[in-house]
Amino acid sequence: MAARIFDVIVIGGGPAGEVAAGRSSENGLSVALVERELVGGECSYWGCMPSKALLRPGELYEEARRVPGVKEAVTGSIDSASALARRNEVVHDWEDDAQLPWLSDQGIELIRGQAVLDGERRVRVGDEVLEARRAVVLAPGSTAGIPPVDGLEAAEPWTNRRGTDAQAVPGKLIVLGGGVVGVELAQAWRSLGADVVLVEVADRLIAREEPFASEDVQAGLEARGVEVRTGTKAAEVSRRDGHVAVRLEHGETITGTEILVAAGRTPRTEGLGVEPLGFEAGKPLPVDDRMRVEGHGWLYAVGDVNGIAPLTHVGKHQAKIAADHIAGKDVRERLMDGALAPRIIFTDPQVAAVGHTIASAEKAGLNVRSVSHATQGTAGGSFTGKGSDGRGCLVIDEDAGVLAGATFTGFEVAEWLHAATFAVRAEVPCAVLADAIPSFPTRSEIWLRLWEKAGF
Ligand SMILES: Cc1cc2nc3c(=O)[nH]c(=O)nc-3n(C[C@H](O)[C@H](O)[C@H](O)COP(=O)(O)OP(=O)(O)OC[C@H]3O[C@@H](n4cnc5c(N)ncnc54)[C@H](O)[C@@H]3O)c2cc1C
Repeated sequence: MAARIFDVIVIGGGPAGEVAAGRSSENGLSVALVERELVGGECSYWGCMPSKALLRPGELYEEARRVPGVKEAVTGSIDSASALARRNEVVHDWEDDAQLPWLSDQGIELIRGQAVLDGERRVRVGDEVLEARRAVVLAPGSTAGIPPVDGLEAAEPWTNRRGTDAQAVPGKLIVLGGGVVGVELAQAWRSLGADVVLVEVADRLIAREEPFASEDVQAGLEARGVEVRTGTKAAEVSRRDGHVAVRLEHGETITGTEILVAAGRTPRTEGLGVEPLGFEAGKPLPVDDRMRVEGHGWLYAVGDVNGIAPLTHVGKHQAKIAADHIAGKDVRERLMDGALAPRIIFTDPQVAAVGHTIASAEKAGLNVRSVSHATQGTAGGSFTGKGSDGRGCLVIDEDAGVLAGATFTGFEVAEWLHAATFAVRAEVPCAVLADAIPSFPTRSEIWLRLWEKAGF
């Protein structure tokens, strides 16, 4: 069979692949998008979307119980069946029909199947061979990493897949890993009625964020009844008589009905044909600042697969850079360093952060100081629930006079983050930022308090 020829072939129809395909088509190029499961990827069906749908009822329930006048009206508990049904709706019952019209509207050819690299600019999908005139973009995403713990694989642990698509609430869930996925899913299933124990090897949860964010998230989880064990790890796992037993390093054994592994992500390059190009399957593909895979000018890698930052918005941004570069556009330097990208943890309290933490700024050799203020310490804070505490912290680069980073914790602080992202990304002088007056009485007045404390 003769090879079908396109300008660009994109492998993987998750958020990064969709943007790479869409942008390339907008740039006037012919595009094939190869997807082996569902167009929309992990994010739409087993990641961002279902996890947020599972978290929302509990978040709202707790906030309602903190608001006098409403709390008296909250007399029952969360109806987990309705919450799970709404989650099913949000993920379109794991069908991708709704995603397809835009592909055909854009003239993108969707090819279903497992794609394998088959030489320079060549891709094989089953019996079919595709050729790219310009470039192949890899966007195969990542899968849950399973740590090498005795008996863990045999115990058939939940990964983010079952952790987000389960149709019933487990009696008792043991969560291994206190990073973003672990804390979010621990809270979600607890709020839907499961007993939850969360085990984290580091001495604090979400260890890359500010220490106060770790404290606030742990306090939030514990207030809901999640048992948090930090500084220890699973040594052995077994499943017997419908129960999972986890022996911790220091000897204690915890039992539960299910175990969820949330211990990091592995790039999904197994079976993709990267070995002949000099790369090891399961390892991130190294890219330059235009997303070209090192040593192969015709090959790009965007999204989770390059290991820069496993976040949907980062992958989508990388995809734009790659697509514009493939189209021959003058691509400006537009990517924030992965670890500095805006990031949100949708627990209660939420954590919203961008740029440096105090520790990462100091490690980068910046001369910084920080100021902080209570999230509720404004007039606008009077209207959110009593006890929905949190903190805001600015990291100020003293030499450049700009904001190096910001972290907020609290109820619904996620939408605050973009103001800080503008400030950090555009390197707006702090003196100018201090002149940007927030409306009264909004919680955004925290910026006034923070700048006052910083002496502006
Ligand atoms: C529980 C959870 C919650 C999350 N929440 C958030 C959040 O709130 N915000 C956020 O920004 N990020 C979140 N993430 C991370 C986010 O899901 C990922 O960063 C994002 O999905 C990565 O997008 P991607 O396009 O690189 O890969 P994916 O979404 O993994 O998509 C890759 C696609 O490629 C396909 N594919 C793979 N190999 C091949 C092949 N050889 N041939 C054909 N097709 C192939 C796969 O089937 C898949 O559809 C979350 C992740 C998890 C696990």
